[in-house]
Amino acid sequence: MLRQVAEGVLVHQSEFCQSNAVVVQGRAGVLLVDPGVLGCEMAALADDLSDSGQPVVAGFSTHPHWDHLLWPTGLGAVPRYGTARCAAAAGDQRSDAQWKARIAQFIPPDIAGQVPLDLLGLITGLPAEMAHIPWDGPEVRLIEHQAHAPGHAALLIGDRGVLIAGDMLSDVLIPMLDFNGTADPIEDYLAALRLLEDVAGDVDVLVPGHGSTGGADQVHARIDQDRAYVHTLRDAHGPSDPRVGPSAQDGWDWVVGVHARQLQRLAQRSERDGTPG
Ligand SMILES: [Zn+2]
Repeated sequence: MLRQVAEGVLVHQSEFCQSNAVVVQGRAGVLLVDPGVLGCEMAALADDLSDSGQPVVAGFSTHPHWDHLLWPTGLGAVPRYGTARCAAAAGDQRSDAQWKARIAQFIPPDIAGQVPLDLLGLITGLPAEMAHIPWDGPEVRLIEHQAHAPGHAALLIGDRGVLIAGDMLSDVLIPMLDFNGTADPIEDYLAALRLLEDVAGDVDVLVPGHGSTGGADQVHARIDQDRAYVHTLRDAHGPSDPRVGPSAQDGWDWVVGVHARQLQRLAQRSERDGTPG
């Protein structure tokens, strides 16, 4: 179930939305990034790792959305990190007495009850000036930006040529903008794509939060595809994006609805602000 994508870097893909958990092997154990969604899958992953003598020594959440904030209960207490903004947003979610009910609204009914929420979002924020995840393993660089969610971070494992992209650069999911956390979601998304483009030359393997892992040839292609999509949103054009409409992959037909809602949100914003487009 764990597939090696580069030396010391393995990926487990969930049945739910092709969510990718990433395991990075260090000296004393592994770093687990966005562990997964279904309790049984995360428990099996934890068992696999302990059976192979690779204890989980640290965790990381790429951004404060529920499907990236979960943690398998059997792993024990290890430091779990995110950016400071991500940790603050996760803490806000938990501070409400009704937080579990609120999160549960976002969980599709067919998997409700299979998602262990107890340890959701219990992460430590890394200060903005910290460039790498503090752990005993290959250097994992944080690329923080403001696309998709507050404090979203991509991770670059430079000497393995791996980019963990969080919820960007997917072959199945279009760019989903953060309409609440930022004044200019379009420009923030484009700025984030530029940050990823700056490191693209160092990337041999791209692991998106959802969808297929891509090789070096996919890095620029997916950046270009995401940018083109954001441009069509900005210009309120219908997309010619293969992820939207009849060409969407099996099980991803709902992405067309995400696109329609994003167009609507942007139209409301420009009406409210009186700005064109
Ligand atoms: Zn996600």
